[in-house]
Amino acid sequence: MTKHLACSKMWTDINVNVPTKEIKNCCKREPQMLSPDEITSYGRNVFVKNRELLEDKKYFIENNDFPKTCSHCKHSHPASIWQNWNEWKYREWSPVALDSLMDSDFTRNVEIMLSTTCNQTCMYCTEQVSSEWAKLKGTIPIVDTAWKDATLQALYEYIECKLTFDFTPLTYNFLGGEPFLELETFDIMEKIISIHDKTWGKHSSRYISFKFTSNLNVKKRTIEKFLEYVKAHPRYKFSVAFSLDALGTIGEEIRDGLDFSRFEENLRLLMTEPRLHRLDLLPTLSCLNVQHYHEVLQWFIDLAKEYKPVSEYGNTWQIGTNLVTWPFELMPALLPTHYSTYLDKAAEVMRQLPNSSYREQQINYLNRIKVHVIGKQRNKIKIDDAIRWFEEQGRLKNKNYWEIFPDLKNILNYENLNDREPTDGNS
Ligand code: SF4
Repeated sequence: MTKHLACSKMWTDINVNVPTKEIKNCCKREPQMLSPDEITSYGRNVFVKNRELLEDKKYFIENNDFPKTCSHCKHSHPASIWQNWNEWKYREWSPVALDSLMDSDFTRNVEIMLSTTCNQTCMYCTEQVSSEWAKLKGTIPIVDTAWKDATLQALYEYIECKLTFDFTPLTYNFLGGEPFLELETFDIMEKIISIHDKTWGKHSSRYISFKFTSNLNVKKRTIEKFLEYVKAHPRYKFSVAFSLDALGTIGEEIRDGLDFSRFEENLRLLMTEPRLHRLDLLPTLSCLNVQHYHEVLQWFIDLAKEYKPVSEYGNTWQIGTNLVTWPFELMPALLPTHYSTYLDKAAEVMRQLPNSSYREQQINYLNRIKVHVIGKQRNKIKIDDAIRWFEEQGRLKNKNYWEIFPDLKNILNYENLNDREPTDGNS
């Protein structure tokens, strides 16, 4: 029996990204780019038995090494997301169990991004993900209807043939853009529900949930309609994960377009609905919020405690982990090393919660970021690049980031470098 690098995520996840025409198994992996004809010819097997995926699984198993399409983890290991997501990391494998992996399908998380429709231009987002960014960049999102139709048809067939004949919990996660702003989200969810309804009763122990990964920056009426939908479908579980990086103005500037008070009002509305199975805060660590991270954790814990028992942390409410990996200029690796003390503060906030594996997972994550990420790529070239980047972004959005983020001058030694020639944005 031996430990092995093989990552469960490649076996449990299917990611369908309609705007970029990508199919993946793990959102951090490089995608398989297949034409509508290839998708139709694979049919329902396109998600778990396409040639590239099978080759990657074989490579992982035989070489005990990340395939190159897992470059995100390969290059950042051991501080990689593999540490958080690979449920097999402590498992001892027998040769037989490893062999059987090739033909195994453990799918239980299906992520669907239908469109880029969004009302924010978050600083670490792009025109490939947000229609608002596309507007700012003057690009027009083009939807390949043939790709979308072929992929959704294959997905419905896969659900019907595979996912209705299983008993393990299954989650459909709608991503954006902003899924609450994409009208088709509810049509696709209705279609998936109709497929599961056909076999309901035969496999009634299956626990099926629909999750929305949202910016919560939508009209109150939209959230009310969602809650009506939740109440009308009692067989299924529903949950919402919502992104917020910092409180007030700083949070509104990082996730540009956000109205923090609307976010809080929507969150409180969701918290009042007992049928919502789960509510998760998803803060993303960047060089702009490491120093505010403990505040957003404390705010959420205090708010959640008004509605839910603290003992339910990890079950009905939780705090997720995420890290900016693009653009480099926002990565915490650029920060001075003393910023790691803010992560100690964040860990202290987490320690207010009862001891649990969920709490420890977050604390361990903060510790890994502290040890392996903060300040690890801080040098003069990168700092100069970052100064240029913030100036360019400021010009693009007509903002002065040196004033908006008071810490930024310190982070980038701006005062010391202030005597250099002004940039024209093309350098
Ligand atoms: S190794 Fe990393 S990129 Fe590959 S499947 Fe696991 S988490 Fe995803």
